[in-house]
Amino acid sequence: MKIPKQRRTYCPSCKKHTDHEVFQSKKRKASELKWGQRQFRRVTSGYRGYPRPLPSGNKPVKKLDLRFKCKECGKSHIKRNSFRVGKIDFVAR
Ligand SMILES: [Zn+2]
Repeated sequence: MKIPKQRRTYCPSCKKHTDHEVFQSKKRKASELKWGQRQFRRVTSGYRGYPRPLPSGNKPVKKLDLRFKCKECGKSHIKRNSFRVGKIDFVAR
């Protein structure tokens, strides 16, 4: 699926329509200081194993995680819609 690199859309912090750069978020390593990671360490320590069922396999088509970065204030935000896409390329309009 082709997605435009740039899009003019509403920026919640500027409170108006501005030009946005569209990009996909990358998966980062979880910080050991974050609450979820601390809870995970607490739960997996001691007896009893993994707190949730292990994933059965990789799905070929994954859900998109698109981010929009405002060119005026530099803040990025997300939109609520997410959909499944096999292949993605960003094209300049
Ligand atoms: Zn902005």
